[in-house]
Amino acid sequence: MIRSCDILIVGGGMVGLSVAALLSRNEGLKVTLVDAGSTPTFDPNQMSPRVSSIAPGSIDLLDSIGAWEEIAATRACPFRDMKVWDAAGSVDGPETLSFESAEFAVPQLGYIVENSLVQHALLNQLSSLPASVQYESAIRLIQRNDRRYEVELADGSVMTPNLLIGADGARSFVRGCAGIEVETRRHDQKALVTMLQPEFSHRHTAWQRFLQDGPIGILPLLDGRVSIVWSTTPDKADAALEMTDDELGALLTDITDGALGRLVPAGPRSAFPLKSQHADRYVVDGLVLVGDAAHAIHPLAGQGVNLGFADARELADVLSAAVERDENVGDLPTLRAFERARKGDNQTMLRFMDVLNRLFSNELVPLARLRGAGMYLFNNSGAIRERVVQTALGIR
Ligand SMILES: Cc1cc2nc3c(=O)[nH]c(=O)nc-3n(C[C@H](O)[C@H](O)[C@H](O)COP(=O)(O)OP(=O)(O)OC[C@H]3O[C@@H](n4cnc5c(N)ncnc54)[C@H](O)[C@@H]3O)c2cc1C
Repeated sequence: MIRSCDILIVGGGMVGLSVAALLSRNEGLKVTLVDAGSTPTFDPNQMSPRVSSIAPGSIDLLDSIGAWEEIAATRACPFRDMKVWDAAGSVDGPETLSFESAEFAVPQLGYIVENSLVQHALLNQLSSLPASVQYESAIRLIQRNDRRYEVELADGSVMTPNLLIGADGARSFVRGCAGIEVETRRHDQKALVTMLQPEFSHRHTAWQRFLQDGPIGILPLLDGRVSIVWSTTPDKADAALEMTDDELGALLTDITDGALGRLVPAGPRSAFPLKSQHADRYVVDGLVLVGDAAHAIHPLAGQGVNLGFADARELADVLSAAVERDENVGDLPTLRAFERARKGDNQTMLRFMDVLNRLFSNELVPLARLRGAGMYLFNNSGAIRERVVQTALGIR
């Protein structure tokens, strides 16, 4: 059976769903989304350890889709301050980088939200939009047929959209089928993710300490717990998965310098191998990549999905303008406008995070001194500091 649609989105993660919600507002544009996984579920009674820090720019996007109201009313923890310090310094030392929302004229620097809640709220919005969303719908084959891509699903049906959107994550099948190369940087790190009950209040602050093997981020949660993302060697991350609660609590209390007092494990643990990668191209005729399919970034500054939301916004703007002009949404010149608008920004952020990770995950004494001096200078750099933070917040 051959099914028709104008736009086929492969991948129903946070980015694919936001693209679907934005595009299906265009009257007359038939949008279909397929995902190989099962329909995302959200448990209001149990917090999921997979959370993201959502920047103000992304909140605006989710708000424009109509999803933010549900997210904010359900479980979203604002953070108003951010503190970043080095293994060699102390959290209250002069070199600690401190950012406060008031300084940037925003009520908060961002919110910590469960990924499953973001997906749930986007799906709720999509349910009243004319889009077809199909989970448990794997793809068997993607091949080029003249100027279009022909996509064969596991149920045997075939789709030939005017535009195929790859939102299928860092190991994108769509990207591979289109023959788009990626530049990959393996960090030889894994991220341990879990939740902890701190002895002291988190004070709605996001904390980050750079250690020899990688940074540890401590993010505030609405119920007083904190979520941690500890990027470290694969051996240490795997060992941490096996530790008793007492052992892990003592270790994490120690490496966070007691900034939040004694930390007690209070949630499931998981570990993710880390890599950064960037696609050579985001577009070919009839196909575009967004989100982690185009760029995967080290989680140290919590930017990954925020970059993906910025892609979603730009792509929707570019395609909506093409629909208004009565042009084919899969035309290469249209898609190139999207690539031009996004690739440079994403590249800058990817490089910046890689440099930070390498510079800070290093115990050479001259580098440690340079870092201390660099952090002090950055803290006092006025316009540069403001520009970097505004970019990270998506409010520039
Ligand atoms: C430990 C950790 C912490 C992080 N913290 C933050 C943070 O604080 N802030 C932040 O902004 N980012 C953070 N990130 C990054 C963020 O999670 C990702 O950037 C984001 O989830 C990417 O979303 P996506 O929709 O592009 O891809 P994904 O979430 O990977 O979704 C891809 C979807 O495609 C589907 N799919 C895959 N292959 C196929 C196929 N062949 N056919 C059909 N469907 C397919 C999958 O089932 C999935 O649903 C973190 C990442 C990690 C690892």
